[in-house]
Amino acid sequence: MDLHELAVETAEKQATSEAEAFEKAMSCIVPAEFKVNDEIEQAFRAGLTAHKSCDDLRIEQIAAHYGFTSQADMLTEECAEYMVALNKLRRGKPDAYDNIKEEVADVLIVARQLRYLLGYEDIDRIINEKLDRQMRRIADENTD
Ligand SMILES: [Mg+2]
Repeated sequence: MDLHELAVETAEKQATSEAEAFEKAMSCIVPAEFKVNDEIEQAFRAGLTAHKSCDDLRIEQIAAHYGFTSQADMLTEECAEYMVALNKLRRGKPDAYDNIKEEVADVLIVARQLRYLLGYEDIDRIINEKLDRQMRRIADENTD
């Protein structure tokens, strides 16, 4: 049983209604002070009810432990660290090449957590649409 299933099962045992169960399950993942809008709430609801498994359980566990607000801010921080590493690479600083690999890894780790928290289906659909669109643009470039 993974964290999503555990959160839902625990909430269902404690709740007297489906709405209350959802609120309790949400509180396991989203910090109470984070005010979700309808779109984000629906994404979490879909993730909790449909549940798709992650490619790495550690990503789910870390994301569920820290929650959306923390990890959304963390992605900003890691992107900033990547930008600093890129500038150091441009300036030819020692260890810059290894450092940029570290920062790309950090960005991907946190981005994968947000993909989990926001719902795989939507994020993967958007990724596929964007990749397909870019491949069409490349094909058009080659026919010009
Ligand atoms: Mg970093």
